[in-house]
Amino acid sequence: MPDRAAGAPACAGRTLRVCALYPELMNIYADRGNLLVLQRRCEWRGIGFQLAASGLGEPLDGDAHDLFYIGGGQDRDQRLCAEDLIETKRAGLRAAAAREAVVLGVCGGYQLLGHSYTLDEQEIPGVGLLDARTVREAGPRLIGNVAIEVSLDGAGADAAAHVLAGFENHGGRTRLGPGQAPLGRVLKGYGNDGRSGMEGARSANTIGTYLHGPLLPKNVWFADWLIATALGIDPRELAELDDTLEREAHLSARRAAGA
Ligand code: GLN
Repeated sequence: MPDRAAGAPACAGRTLRVCALYPELMNIYADRGNLLVLQRRCEWRGIGFQLAASGLGEPLDGDAHDLFYIGGGQDRDQRLCAEDLIETKRAGLRAAAAREAVVLGVCGGYQLLGHSYTLDEQEIPGVGLLDARTVREAGPRLIGNVAIEVSLDGAGADAAAHVLAGFENHGGRTRLGPGQAPLGRVLKGYGNDGRSGMEGARSANTIGTYLHGPLLPKNVWFADWLIATALGIDPRELAELDDTLEREAHLSARRAAGA
């Protein structure tokens, strides 16, 4: 639907190179939808889109992609991926984060971007890009609709561009280190641990969040922020799209959360 773009595409000739980590294992709650949103919003603007995958045992070239995505996963799949992440991908991912490529982890993926995920008295190591530790404590899973308030440089002028709405379902509780910024402040829902009022974590362009939903179809302003940041441009330089439906989806997710 290229005619959805209003005005001349500002980024013609550019290509967004995305790498999905473990797309077969870390993909609960329709993480594929997040990748599709990135793809379509690039295509509608005449921006090229390349999707690569890096699964178990496959190396990761931190220079070959602009945006790295790791989705949600069951505990057993996270165990498998954690070991592989350290062995075959940690160096590449760290190099990518250091040059401020975008690294986005959702739920199980977020947990693996921290230092560790402890469950059943076993500590699963993470890559340590975020100063966060997750523990599977006794107590119910944290499940429900969630909305958070965030502040990201250059995000759309739209009032919606300060709220992310989605759905969370996690047994792990995440605590941030003292200097670690959260992604946002919980408006409704549990967030990192149901107590701190914080949700997710952000260090430069490395971002972790518990928001599924999937995240990006319900928050396209954030998808645009990710695209622009990964391409190294200001989000306001992206051609505007007709987001009538997408805005409705966002408002509906906010209503569901009560925010
Ligand atoms: N297995 C993790 C937990 O329960 C992450 C779940 C998820 O990705 N939805 O905390």
